[in-house]
Amino acid sequence: MSIPFDNTYARELAGFSVPWRPASVPAPRLLFLNEALAEELGLDVDALRGEAGAALFAGNAVPEGAEPVAQAYAGHQFGGFSPQLGDGRAVLLGEVIDRNGRRRDIAFKGSGRTPFSRGGDGKAAVGPMLREVLIGEAMHALGIPTTRALAVAATGEPVFREEALPGAVLTRVAASHIRVGTFQFFAARGDDERVQQLADYTIARHDPALVDVPDRYLRLLENAAERQAALIAQWMNVGFIHGVMNTDNMTLSGETIDYGPCAFVEAYDPRAVFSSIDQRGRYAFGNQPSIAQWNLARLAETLLPLIAEDPERAAEQATAVLERFPAAYQRHLLEGQRAKLGLTAGGDDDGDAQLADDWLELLRAGHVDFTLAWRRLADAAAGDEAPLRALFENAPSPDAWLARWRERCARDASGLDAAERAARMRRVNPLVIPRNHRVEEALAAASADDDLAPFESLLAALRRPYDAMPEHARDAEPAPAAVTACYRTF
Ligand code: AMP
Ligand code: MG
Ligand code: MG
Repeated sequence: MSIPFDNTYARELAGFSVPWRPASVPAPRLLFLNEALAEELGLDVDALRGEAGAALFAGNAVPEGAEPVAQAYAGHQFGGFSPQLGDGRAVLLGEVIDRNGRRRDIAFKGSGRTPFSRGGDGKAAVGPMLREVLIGEAMHALGIPTTRALAVAATGEPVFREEALPGAVLTRVAASHIRVGTFQFFAARGDDERVQQLADYTIARHDPALVDVPDRYLRLLENAAERQAALIAQWMNVGFIHGVMNTDNMTLSGETIDYGPCAFVEAYDPRAVFSSIDQRGRYAFGNQPSIAQWNLARLAETLLPLIAEDPERAAEQATAVLERFPAAYQRHLLEGQRAKLGLTAGGDDDGDAQLADDWLELLRAGHVDFTLAWRRLADAAAGDEAPLRALFENAPSPDAWLARWRERCARDASGLDAAERAARMRRVNPLVIPRNHRVEEALAAASADDDLAPFESLLAALRRPYDAMPEHARDAEPAPAAVTACYRTF
């Protein structure tokens, strides 16, 4: 198998990673192949199916041209700093230029121990790796920047967690694997030269327009902050809870990475937490914007020596960028909310933001399903309020709010008629999101019974999140309340 790799990270950045081979496994078997993504990468899809693909994606047959490395990084985990994390169960195979001319990383996760493994086994289980597929493909279909799964191969080897589970390797595609924690790794060692090298590399890869700009390091911070503001706003508008927003899980590219304990809210609640390792709710749904800003402050600290020679001046400039984050986030949030409300931009920002806030407060007070409420607002726009009202049966009445919203729609500059407005709203308010109970059912069947049919069916639904498909009706239904209340991702 030959893949046209072009490995800048391994070649240009000495001391940023260690050459490392993925482990061999006893019985490779391909569970999932993302054919559309393989095409996009310019790979020979036919050659990836069957045994050759299984051997490749399990790590047994390292393709020609790959220069596998384990990458170094540090990170704040739940607020505490670990100077050395790194790829403890991942290797970067290399980079390819995709059909659109974009450089993409191809990496394994679960491919065995590395020098960064500490106490871990370096392995991954089938369930969590298929979970990455489902959530990542859902995010992609929702138009949210994300790393994506190219393949999952079963290894034929058990991994031992609380019980023995079937093992798997995930192949992940990313715009890059540069994290806030990558900068922290070198900054924490006082290695300013490598921080600069990394910043220059990141600029060349993600912000090429800045290459010759005099204040490029400040502008890199600004761009990274802007990407996060846009990303987190998108998360908030679909109800996505990342669950473990450590600085090693925040990318400079602005892609969502690391689908571990993530989940989507059902009944809307800013305090929602699904991860049992997040005992104090640091990464609760509503905290995500402020955590992103906190993580960006950690990035800013690493860049200070590059921003200006005078430390005070550097701090002032970086602080000014960080202080603009909440407004940038609000701007992206409102843009998304307006589309979800069926409104076009322009006019009264404060009034529209208040309208959106009051809607969310109604959902919160009534424990109303976030996804269905937005979706059924589109039905209301088309003149059918009954489906929406059914969600508010045991909740404070939405009447007053609906009257305000209708009045605002009537004043909207777009001049859309009811059917057009409803159609537009259905293109931005998904019907199908990865509901926790459906994801669990699919993973349990795949993991325990080797039955991939529920996984494949759910994946098909998640890839068309805006379409009402009768055969996927169950994928759009909320979990029974009793199931949601005790749901844990970890
Ligand atoms: P994560 O929570 O996935 O962001 O991982 C945090 C750190 O733990 C990273 O350095 C991972 O590479 C490492 N890690 C997670 N799981 C394992 C494992 N099973 N074996 C070795 N290292 C691991
Ligand atoms: Mg991680
Ligand atoms: Mg993880």
